[in-house]
Amino acid sequence: MSAGIPDVDIREVGPRDGLQIEDPIPTEAKIDLIDALAATGVRRIEATSFVSPRAVPSLADAEAVAAQLHRWPSVSFSALVAGLGGVRRALAAGVDRLEYVVSASDGHSQANVGRSSTESVELIAPIARLVHEAGGHLEVIVAIAFDCPFDGPTPPSRVAEIARRAVADGADSLSVADTIGTAAPGRTLDVLGRVLQSAPGTDLGLHLHDTRGQGLANAWAAYGLGVRQFDASVGGLGGCPFAPGASGNIATEELAYMFEDSGISTGIDLGRVLDAAACASRALGKPLPGRMLAAGGRSKPTPRE
Ligand code: MG
Repeated sequence: MSAGIPDVDIREVGPRDGLQIEDPIPTEAKIDLIDALAATGVRRIEATSFVSPRAVPSLADAEAVAAQLHRWPSVSFSALVAGLGGVRRALAAGVDRLEYVVSASDGHSQANVGRSSTESVELIAPIARLVHEAGGHLEVIVAIAFDCPFDGPTPPSRVAEIARRAVADGADSLSVADTIGTAAPGRTLDVLGRVLQSAPGTDLGLHLHDTRGQGLANAWAAYGLGVRQFDASVGGLGGCPFAPGASGNIATEELAYMFEDSGISTGIDLGRVLDAAACASRALGKPLPGRMLAAGGRSKPTPRE
């Protein structure tokens, strides 16, 4: 590792993917959480999404969040969008690092945005134009990259084709998302390998949910394949133990612990992530699912022999 640049780059998505399925919390509480997360050393934070306030009432204050974000020189903030309207709203709010989600299945795409998967793919080019005219950065997230709750297994060839098309149409980076947390490492490696072949040289990230306990194993497998960008959510935020299928992202502190304990730097201070998790837990009025919140880190590092 060279000084200052961690070996892996974790994007904190708790304020977006975590909070989106929770009851709304005040904007000020979100800003406090984002500040607590920014203080952990994480370099990228997905702060909100500019999507339909009717569909996602918890993030209806996207403009207010964007306006109230404090400047952190070491952190870049981004937002998720699902169409051209959201891109225009985000750019008007001063957010120009955007993640555009394309579902790889028609069933999920229709349920999520009322468009087919192909129609969503067609929007990549005009969205990339808008973002680039504003001097911004566009990541395309291929959601439902493994299984769809409506359509069943997603053909890996479909994910690879969307990846190829996204880069051809202007995406600056890509992410592959196991939106409902069904993949185990074998399929993760298969899909990522095809995406890397289909879009060689592109910045590639992985977005995992821990619904079936496969999240860290998948992240570790992907690291072995060369993937260095991972989404995670503080405390595993967003999880609901009583709603199978709605589980949260892999927990930031668990992902950072796995890498750091393996000698792979993340730039993240684990104690501060636990502080941020406590902040999120207070704001939501309930405990978060992350296992390290109860266990803590190791008090003393194991001596290296
Ligand atoms: Mg997600």
